[in-house]
Amino acid sequence: MTSAYKIHEHTYDMVVVGAGGAGLRATFGLAQKGLKTACISKVFPTRSHTVAAQGGISAALGNMGEDDWRFHFYDTIKGSDWLGDQDAIEYMCREAIPAIIELEHQGVPFSRTEDGKIYQRPFGGMTTHYGKGTAQRTCAAADRTGHAILHTLYQQSLAHSAEFFIEYFALDLVMDEEGACRGVLALDMATGELHLFRAQGTVLATGGYGRAYFSATSAHTCTGDGGGMALRAGLPLQDMEFVQFHPTGIYGAGCLITEGVRGEGGILRNSNGERFMERYAPNAKDLASRDVVSRSMTIEIREGRGVGPKKDHIHLDLTHLNPADIHEKLPGIAETAKIFAGVDVTKQPIPVLPTVHYNMGGLQTNYHGEVVTLKNGNPDTVVPGLYAIGEAACVSVHGANRLGSNSLLDLVVFGRAVANRCAETIKPGAPHKSLPASACDKSLANLDKLRHASGGTPTADIRGNMQQVMQNNAAVFRTGETLLEGVQKIREVVKSFEDVRVSDRSLVWNSDLIETLELQNLLGQAVATMVSAENRKESRGAHAREDYQERDDVNWHKHTLCWVDEAGNTTLDYRPVHMYTLSKDVDVVPPKARTY
Ligand SMILES: Cc1cc2nc3c(=O)[nH]c(=O)nc-3n(C[C@H](O)[C@H](O)[C@H](O)COP(=O)(O)OP(=O)(O)OC[C@H]3O[C@@H](n4cnc5c(N)ncnc54)[C@H](O)[C@@H]3O)c2cc1C
Repeated sequence: MTSAYKIHEHTYDMVVVGAGGAGLRATFGLAQKGLKTACISKVFPTRSHTVAAQGGISAALGNMGEDDWRFHFYDTIKGSDWLGDQDAIEYMCREAIPAIIELEHQGVPFSRTEDGKIYQRPFGGMTTHYGKGTAQRTCAAADRTGHAILHTLYQQSLAHSAEFFIEYFALDLVMDEEGACRGVLALDMATGELHLFRAQGTVLATGGYGRAYFSATSAHTCTGDGGGMALRAGLPLQDMEFVQFHPTGIYGAGCLITEGVRGEGGILRNSNGERFMERYAPNAKDLASRDVVSRSMTIEIREGRGVGPKKDHIHLDLTHLNPADIHEKLPGIAETAKIFAGVDVTKQPIPVLPTVHYNMGGLQTNYHGEVVTLKNGNPDTVVPGLYAIGEAACVSVHGANRLGSNSLLDLVVFGRAVANRCAETIKPGAPHKSLPASACDKSLANLDKLRHASGGTPTADIRGNMQQVMQNNAAVFRTGETLLEGVQKIREVVKSFEDVRVSDRSLVWNSDLIETLELQNLLGQAVATMVSAENRKESRGAHAREDYQERDDVNWHKHTLCWVDEAGNTTLDYRPVHMYTLSKDVDVVPPKARTY
């Protein structure tokens, strides 16, 4: 059956899967270094989820007051609840400064201070002097920072003659007998033709898997396809139990209201009109770290102080701010609130609720962006030819909880790092080793099976079940009981995938098939998330267990690795947290209590 599929073959030095901020930064960086580079994307590049990023990108430029990248380093470690790797965090925070200046020179239209410098706003968990003052560290282009960055990076990629394959859906990694990655197999969605991209290096920049949940701020395209491909290639995913809930998704719609709103003075209020964050985080208040604010809101609602007829959400109040400031600094938010909540933010509060926003977990990499795995007892063994960056990766710079504005930074810093690394290690035009004839067989068999799947359950039903289980059983607060039930239920959902029905049999613009392939990718990550969460018997960062309320550094100061096979069976192992730095410019920050 599978031999019926004709495959077009391409050879490149590098192939990048994904054209969000991470993928585009890598693509143009690689092309700029003289490597022949292809970029594959299932959506038009500037429609990638990065376009929706609002608040900004962090870097200790010190344009609006004192700052230092070493403060940023400390804040990121504390934000990560000490699960972040300190070598990688040092690299990111130091490189942030040149990376932002580069973006500016490439053409990102940042907002400006009166003396013409890049405008910076305060964001949660960003401080000066190791927690003492408030840092204004988040560089912004109004509230459309991701949009500005993504368009600039796409223009730079075109300027450097990278080649794009748009609306191509990457199916699987092509791995050889030695476990090296040799390229990727993709489906041209418009024609239904298959394309094999052979490359010395393959970069996964496929974004997060927020759509495993029912209510998420991320786009419907955020289906974790890179993670799915990695699991099928026998690689583990790291720290999948850590899912960030953003405190302020619009109630009902789930669309994001940026943390920048609180950075500009917005306040969260309960049904008594009380600024309740003063009780939970006396210093940082509304600008405490995201996990802390989301939990505080959940407690307020549980204790009966939620707003609305069902007392099931919270108000975000901007009515005390100057309308002219809102218009200048938060125009997109005013519009979003009008459209999705029907409120005029200058007169009424916005109804909000914690909503799934970011996946801290992903493909395990080092700070060069090289994918690493546990082999012969060494958890940092490089997988030859495979790289991962952006939300698909877990470097890990965000550990158990990401600070706002550190993701856009992660995209550009590690996108750039991959380009630099490959320029050193890969020779342009080097010959490609031959591939075994069977290299694509497994992937083709999977495609063929799903395309002809004639079970009794439509894809949308299985997806709906998965999203409900994730939403109910791996939520802001977790208990052993809900997680155990979640593991059982998500395994049942995986089992039900055997009965999936795809109604459209063609290969041309078959959105039914594409959604089924995406669901398959999501399911592996949903299982990994639930199983890793059940397994971790402590509370750390975004993982808050009511039965284990304290962080337990003795037993759990380690990364989780989770393998998931096709039947949904899991294997768990661990990797030590990197408690060392790259230079003497900063000292390792030892774990201590995390308060804001
Ligand atoms: C609403 C919102 C606001 C945010 N605001 C901020 C902010 O202000 N500051 C901040 O730091 N972070 C913010 N974040 C987080 C941050 O924007 C994301 O983590 C980041 O943009 C992810 O970028 P990425 O390049 O990894 O992936 P994405 O931008 O999601 O891009 C993924 C790419 O992979 C491609 N792709 C995926 N699967 C396949 C496949 N199978 N085949 C081919 N191509 C594929 C897609 O076409 C796309 O091009 C926000 C997130 C959201 C959802």
